[in-house]
Amino acid sequence: MAVALLYDPRCLDHDPGPMHPESPDRLRAIWSDLSGNPIAGTEGIAPPEATREELTRVHEEAYVDAILRLAGKEASLDADTSVSPGSIEAARLSAGAAAEGVRRVLDGRAQSAFALVRPPGHHAEKTRAMGFCLFNNVAVAAAEAHARGVSRVLCVDWDVHHGNGTQHAFESRRDLLFMSTHQFPFYPGTGHESEIGLGQGEGYTVNAPLPAGCGDHDYAAIFDYVLLPIAQAYRPELVLVSAGFDAHRADPLADMALSEDGFAALCGAVKEIADEHCQGRMVLTLEGGYDLAALAGSVRACIEVLAGASPPPLDPLPRRAAGALNRIRQAQKTHWGKYL
Ligand SMILES: [Zn+2]
Repeated sequence: MAVALLYDPRCLDHDPGPMHPESPDRLRAIWSDLSGNPIAGTEGIAPPEATREELTRVHEEAYVDAILRLAGKEASLDADTSVSPGSIEAARLSAGAAAEGVRRVLDGRAQSAFALVRPPGHHAEKTRAMGFCLFNNVAVAAAEAHARGVSRVLCVDWDVHHGNGTQHAFESRRDLLFMSTHQFPFYPGTGHESEIGLGQGEGYTVNAPLPAGCGDHDYAAIFDYVLLPIAQAYRPELVLVSAGFDAHRADPLADMALSEDGFAALCGAVKEIADEHCQGRMVLTLEGGYDLAALAGSVRACIEVLAGASPPPLDPLPRRAAGALNRIRQAQKTHWGKYL
């Protein structure tokens, strides 16, 4: 079975304005790299637009309708989030691509999938657009899995920013285990290690706030010593990834130091969880990443791993992240202590 690459050129028609970092050139760079030098074992798929029903599983109806009414128009939604005439179609395709990836891997029509989309989604809240995001693509994908009877979805968010929208959508539930690594303190301000979920969902949110400057070995330590053992214990039936690449050392918006090899290693580590627990069923959806060459190279490195390449070995050495590692482990002790 192939790795499905969900892509539609209409995602380039979302124009957030001149000089905006979330530019159409991001996806253009990714797609021109992949189409110019295709990776064996991948298959390009044109995604459907998300339906109103799919969107309202995650967002309030009034919000969805207000956004859909902006189709063909221009508007400013928050300080850094605006829409152009093509944005709403792009946003529907982005959420639709993530949901289609889930359907394909659950139905056995794809081994894994990567929704190559924009606008990104993980900051979008139930009732508001935020941080370049209109609809929460990965949350819509998770809701599609839940609607199909999947009861344990693991969502790993390695974008350099905290996935506030995704956390808030599922923090009171156990049918999604949310894990996020992010620079902290940083935009959007949430994602402290003490945020571990609410009520029934307590223990099913795992935040890994990290100091600026963390590189491949720091991330490997956080994954090996905290995130992966918890993911193993959860035994997911499906794995989703909010795959942002703005923790790359070349990224202009943040201050982390991951390399292409580092992203490939993270992808490989998450894939091992999927291989062990859910026949490799894994769907990535593109979030941030603002250096064009680093973005295209990191996406390629991850897709090569999905298509069967061995990820580069990475020693877990928490140099900058040693203090954070201890705090995160401590915060998760009540729920996952025996696995850590
Ligand atoms: Zn980001």
